[in-house]
Amino acid sequence: MARREILEYPDPRLQQPAEPVTRFDESVGHLVDDLLDTLYSTSAIALSAPQIDDLRQVLVVDLSEARNEPQVYINPEILAKAAWGFVEESCLSLPGVKGNVLRATQIRVKAQDRDGETFERDLEAMHAVCLQHEMDHLVGKLFVDRLSIFRRLHFRAFGSAKARRRQEAA
Ligand code: ZN
Repeated sequence: MARREILEYPDPRLQQPAEPVTRFDESVGHLVDDLLDTLYSTSAIALSAPQIDDLRQVLVVDLSEARNEPQVYINPEILAKAAWGFVEESCLSLPGVKGNVLRATQIRVKAQDRDGETFERDLEAMHAVCLQHEMDHLVGKLFVDRLSIFRRLHFRAFGSAKARRRQEAA
């Protein structure tokens, strides 16, 4: 178990699609543990495997106040979506950026747990939004890709200026 580095935009690895997990062996357990250790080292509520440079369809969520109720979703699939609305999102891979994204606030999701057991769950509000945000990471998408063209252009200018400054500082 270890805290891992979180990739940040514009790292091209964040745009790679993740592969489904087919073998539920020890390495899947290690990945889940690393995801949780890394998540709990931040103040965020969810994290996906591609963000720590592992291209498997695994994500973790913990919305509890005490941060002791981890939920693991492997190979998640959304079966139904309803009640659309704009929700403000942020992302560990885009430090300091916030944006309003149109999301379903009620979903039914099917996924597997760390032992490969399949389950279905109805999620709403933040939980539903969070899952959709993390599932975007599994297909190589960031939430800014869902913003309007204007906001995206603004973000790209801002994002690349920030990356340049970082390079100059290095
Ligand atoms: Zn994110």
